[in-house]
Amino acid sequence: MEKRTKTWFERAIFLSWYCSKGDCTFCYMSIQKPFIKDPKKAVRRKESILAEAIISKVCGWRIEFLSGGYESYSIPEIAEITGQLHKITGLKQWLNIGTLSKHEIEQFLPDIEGVCGAVECINLDVRKKVCPSKPLEPIEDMLETAEKFGLKKAITIIMGLGESEDDIPLLVDFIKKHNLDRITFYALNPHKGTPFKKGPATDYYTKWIRGIRKEFPDLQIIAGSWVDRLSEIHELLEAGADAITKFPSIKLFGSRFAKQIEEEARKAGRKFEGTMTELPDIDWDKEVDKLDLDIGLKGKIKVKLKQYTKKMSDSGTR
Ligand code: SF4
Repeated sequence: MEKRTKTWFERAIFLSWYCSKGDCTFCYMSIQKPFIKDPKKAVRRKESILAEAIISKVCGWRIEFLSGGYESYSIPEIAEITGQLHKITGLKQWLNIGTLSKHEIEQFLPDIEGVCGAVECINLDVRKKVCPSKPLEPIEDMLETAEKFGLKKAITIIMGLGESEDDIPLLVDFIKKHNLDRITFYALNPHKGTPFKKGPATDYYTKWIRGIRKEFPDLQIIAGSWVDRLSEIHELLEAGADAITKFPSIKLFGSRFAKQIEEEARKAGRKFEGTMTELPDIDWDKEVDKLDLDIGLKGKIKVKLKQYTKKMSDSGTR
């Protein structure tokens, strides 16, 4: 197997804090849903989303996917945002916004590289309990449709929901069946108010990554950690992960936590692409002026960029 020499950070860009399903037992959105009266007000502003994409590009973070709960922004609205992200990054994007029909996928075609299905758990008995309103079949249908369009396909899997390592062969079969290009693993981050109290042990987590890497040398594997589990990152990389995700990289930019991520990459013998710690000294307004966007929107993005980059400079003291 070819030795992996580099790694990087993948940032998921969120569209909203609302999801109409809202009953996956582990999910933060399931705690939020009862408090959100108007889903349209729970969406992030476009200027925040686009400012985040500019920062990601400048800092060398890859955009993992555009992510959001079901029924937040409309499909044409998300298609417009996806087109703007394509313009900003120069790269086609990935979508992780629920199951999409053929007609819906068509609306994104010029701007997307692939779609991601939120499988979460491959043990179907456990899955029924933890994702009661998110059946697997429509996700599989979407992956098949994506294949017909020649798009890439990915899934997300959360470790620690009640599955066991005996289920690894089920995941191997699923990856083969759908000819997946990428998988994102997350370690369960137990949210207060959900029935979950602790995340998976690192040994167990790495067993899954190692098992999948052994079967699929070329599959892109992204592994999520969390602020309280950063010391496992070198082990996730050594087990075969390509890159890491799930870190509040703007809020904690330059902090001791961000430094630890770069250190963990070094420990695993990987060169870390981009930066989590040194804010590039550039004229952010010029970055916005370059873009082919509406002038009013550009003004709002500049304001957001000032707020975010100030937060990034300040967080270096943590
Ligand atoms: S469908 Fe996704 S966003 Fe909605 S509750 Fe389930 S995991 Fe959370």
